[in-house]
Amino acid sequence: MNLRTLLITIGFLSQFTVNFAQNSSYWQQKVDYSMKINMDVTKHQYQGSQHLIYYNNSPDTLKKVFYHLFYNAFQPGSMMDIRNQNLPDPDRQLNESIKNLKSDEIGYEKILVLTQNGNKIEYKVDETILEAKLNKPLLPNDSTILDMIFEVQVPKLCRRAGRDNLQGIDYSMAQWYPKLAEYDYMGWHADQYIGREFYGVWGDFDVIIDIDSKYKVAAGGHLIDKQLMGKDKTRYHYQAENVHDFVWAADRDYTGYSLKTKSGTILHFNYQNTGHRDSIWHLAGPIIAKAFEFMNNRYGKYQYDTYSFIEGGDGGMEYPLATLVTGNRSVNSLVGIWAHEFMHSWYQMMLATNESNYPWMDEGFTSFATIEILEYLNNLNLINRNFPDFAFENDYNTWDNYLLSPFREPLSTHSDHYNTNYAYWINAYTGGEVFIKQLEYIVGQKAFDKGLLDYFDKWKFKHPEPVDFIRIMEKA
Ligand SMILES: [Zn+2]
Repeated sequence: MNLRTLLITIGFLSQFTVNFAQNSSYWQQKVDYSMKINMDVTKHQYQGSQHLIYYNNSPDTLKKVFYHLFYNAFQPGSMMDIRNQNLPDPDRQLNESIKNLKSDEIGYEKILVLTQNGNKIEYKVDETILEAKLNKPLLPNDSTILDMIFEVQVPKLCRRAGRDNLQGIDYSMAQWYPKLAEYDYMGWHADQYIGREFYGVWGDFDVIIDIDSKYKVAAGGHLIDKQLMGKDKTRYHYQAENVHDFVWAADRDYTGYSLKTKSGTILHFNYQNTGHRDSIWHLAGPIIAKAFEFMNNRYGKYQYDTYSFIEGGDGGMEYPLATLVTGNRSVNSLVGIWAHEFMHSWYQMMLATNESNYPWMDEGFTSFATIEILEYLNNLNLINRNFPDFAFENDYNTWDNYLLSPFREPLSTHSDHYNTNYAYWINAYTGGEVFIKQLEYIVGQKAFDKGLLDYFDKWKFKHPEPVDFIRIMEKA
């Protein structure tokens, strides 16, 4: 055992101090959303209605429900803002953009009416969390109807979501609606939003968006219908089944194309019709379609028939059936970010781990797979990247340096509670990646390959935990 192996082993052993055991009688909640919004592009606001059917599959009687109101974080003095200001390595761009927001530029989600089975219920809002007291407790194996009228202002900044991103996308609409918090064997996951992680309830989405006809909409879901509403507005009707979030974006300059993959899944590409994007996005599409074949064979078959690569956001961010990525890139860079975000369709969107508790399970596993995918494409000469002989070498070095640094924190740290962004990033991305690569070395290629597919088969459309992955690998 050389020094590096020793360090890595000690690193992992000491980090698995907390390990929750998943209940053997697994259950998960379900919620079906119907939402309709009417966008006012002059004020960057919309009023919306939301109709939820919430199924309580837990053994517990629920007397309350919680919602996330993410856009309330985009205000000067929010927990996200203050926390960021006090980090030794803050997101400086976020600092600058939040502090100068005026009242017509901040983000907010205001609730106008909330009812359960048609009767008004009491609620209170604490920044990004709404807590509502049910009139009629929700019994195990029962369901209830929750209706809401809400009003949203889209913030004038783009941190994952928002308006006017740095490359000119009008609306990047992630975290755009009051979202029911997840309840599982640990209880409610009603964490304040500080710009980091997500964990959602499985269910179906039906979404209607009315917007000025000058804007074109792209989304993670099936476009069921599109029609003119009067002379200035267009209605987009989307559906997405068996997912835990819904994202959309709108821009006046969107253009795009679609590709049918060998397995039948349609890939959609939506980007601004400016600069060199048209040629770059057309070159990159067939390359990611080739990667998609590899991903299906290696990590389990993608379970949906659509996926959209949408220009938007502030880098790259994953959602069910779609990603928002910034669009002004080279082919290498575009394929690289797509491979990572698309791979999250496995490690987070289908295998829906709790990102707040275990960021290394979605980011780490995704980072591991991204290297495998890019190495595969490189070997086919479809992209041109400089990998060392051992493609993971740079990340192993990063991990070694981190373990020797004073900034090291346990891998079991809650995502929102890290002392530095640096420790969060390295633990979540590199730590998870090195963990799974080391595991492959320890259990052997054959068992590892089988374990990856068994993990997918057993836990897709659920919320796996670390111990569930470990048990699968032990059995493989
Ligand atoms: Zn990621």
